[in-house]
Amino acid sequence: MPVWNPSVELLDPAALRAMQLDRLRRLMTYVNERVPFYREAFRAARVTPEDMRSLDDLRRIPFTVKSDLRDNYPFGLFAVPQHDLARIHASSGTTGKPTVAGYTANDLALWGEVMARALSMAGVTPTDIVHNAYGYGLFTGGLGVHIGAERIGATVVPVSGGLTKRQVMLLEDFGATVITCTPSYALVIAEELAEQGIDVATRLELRVGIFGAEPWTETMRRELETKLGIRALNIYGLTEIIGPGVAQECEHAAGMHLFEDVFLPEIVDPESGEPLPLGEEGELVLTTLTKEAMPVVRYRTRDRTRLIPGECACGRTLVRVERIMGRTDDMLIIRGVNVFPQLIERTLLSIEDLEPQYQIVVQRAERQLDDLEIIVEGTNVLFESGAEARRASVGERVTRALNDTLGIAVSVRIAEPRSLPRSEGKAKRVIDRRDLAT
Ligand code: AMP
Ligand code: ZN
Repeated sequence: MPVWNPSVELLDPAALRAMQLDRLRRLMTYVNERVPFYREAFRAARVTPEDMRSLDDLRRIPFTVKSDLRDNYPFGLFAVPQHDLARIHASSGTTGKPTVAGYTANDLALWGEVMARALSMAGVTPTDIVHNAYGYGLFTGGLGVHIGAERIGATVVPVSGGLTKRQVMLLEDFGATVITCTPSYALVIAEELAEQGIDVATRLELRVGIFGAEPWTETMRRELETKLGIRALNIYGLTEIIGPGVAQECEHAAGMHLFEDVFLPEIVDPESGEPLPLGEEGELVLTTLTKEAMPVVRYRTRDRTRLIPGECACGRTLVRVERIMGRTDDMLIIRGVNVFPQLIERTLLSIEDLEPQYQIVVQRAERQLDDLEIIVEGTNVLFESGAEARRASVGERVTRALNDTLGIAVSVRIAEPRSLPRSEGKAKRVIDRRDLAT
């Protein structure tokens, strides 16, 4: 597999650390001069670039959190005047104002660089046809993959999300070798292929899928690999940092290599904010070392993961991050028990006769006890006439498995195939009705 930028991706770790430290000091000087928010934060914490004698001193710098972005909406954290901005992207939050990110021409070049590294890591070359079904627009997914694929010199099909029948037609007619979209939308495409009776092995040229922008599990990887006849690889990123292209799995799929020459990672205890030892699971904190328009310093991503120590068989020295295990803010607390949506997904997908389509509904019952209902689609066999007993027994098996793994009682409903809503972008799996009930 080609390495896009060997001078960085294979760099000696000591040289990499020195580069990070140097860039960190420069970044602090840069934002101190240009962004009142950081000037004030550094002053209050009494920290200066000279205090950064080693990367361990990073912990002296205060965090930047989501609400800092909101408080400075829309352009308050920008470090360049508007005429230096080449592009603006935004991520639509669940409520209120979006999270905004600005890019200079150099930032776009950086994005192209990290996305070219990411796509190369997944095996994309100039001879590939990339069917890019991430949404185009303010969302960073579509244009992020686009800029990297163009940089590599691959052929890009900028199809964006939606109109699934047409996606399937174009996949076949254009002979795409690479598909990029959210894992949940990849499933929707897989369903449509199956519906039309298209044999992926003989009628499609697809070889690899690069999926991200939302959490997914190993079991989901296997589903997608089988249904689409591809290798499915994970890509990670977020608008606040750059968009997709922060980290990417190589062909060994043993964690995502993080482009730490430009995005400095830390793992902290989500409660105390204290840095955790290498290998422990916590919240990912990222610092953009070279961005111009909207650098962020110690940004708390709220994504739960860990850094994987040790070398990767691909030879890259870049640290790997484990598959994102969920967000610190999507953990549900139900009757005092911490419930992670991905654990539910993993449990559901381990049971036969179920489709990888589910919804997690939380409600506050009258007596104040929260109620967790899992709705999961069954396969067609469970809904044939005379299959009631089989359906009931699958339902019982799911209930038991979930009760065991989660440690709390849940109610389970097996829904008909294709009855739950499908998404073209990020799936909405958790429906928390508790706010409405109070
Ligand atoms: P956005 O800025 O709207 O693109 O959302 C970024 C967020 O999407 C991240 O902070 C993660 O929570 C989530 N995300 C992105 N990529 C992945 C991935 N590969 N696995 C799990 N979650 C992801
Ligand atoms: Zn690797």
